[in-house]
Amino acid sequence: MVHSISCSCGKLQGQIKHIHNINRCVCYCADCQAFARYLNKEEEVLDEQGGTSIVQTIPENVVFSQGIENLACIRLSDRGLLRWYAACCHTPIGNTPPDAKFSFVGLVYSCLGSDQNVLDETFGSIKMYVHTADALGENKPKSQGTFLGTLRILGMILKARLTGAYKNTPFFVSGSTSTSIATPKVLSENELAEAMKVK
Ligand SMILES: [Zn+2]
Ligand SMILES: [Zn+2]
Repeated sequence: MVHSISCSCGKLQGQIKHIHNINRCVCYCADCQAFARYLNKEEEVLDEQGGTSIVQTIPENVVFSQGIENLACIRLSDRGLLRWYAACCHTPIGNTPPDAKFSFVGLVYSCLGSDQNVLDETFGSIKMYVHTADALGENKPKSQGTFLGTLRILGMILKARLTGAYKNTPFFVSGSTSTSIATPKVLSENELAEAMKVK
């Protein structure tokens, strides 16, 4: 069973190939919030407390079948994650470490169809809520499932490293673990400050 990936205008198309090797989480961290705000997508992407719903898997599990030239990438700082989006319509796509040996991608649900019920049916319900201290509002959500979720993710990364599966990634130039297919734009101080501002 596969699950479609699409930007909102449809130019970028792809798939998650397998529904195993998946972890789901909601991340409330200020950086994920800033990414959505930078793209002016906070209303579509962030929940009322600033959480981003993410499907985490290994990049080998992701294929782009159409419009990959629209994939663009930013970093909030020169040491930050690569944050991928569709340049055609500013749909957030996902986050990867800057080193492909760490085989990991967190796909933002905005590119997976926005129906949480469908995502629940396909990938199972969300059991992991992280970085809740950064959540907006007075009543912070409780951090949950971090231990088991982190173990699952580390297991996926380790297995991909041992089997060599980390080399199969659509986000990096073939044969390289450090050259991403799009040159990341590192945000300027002003851009970062603007993106961090809770509106
Ligand atoms: Zn698009
Ligand atoms: Zn985050």
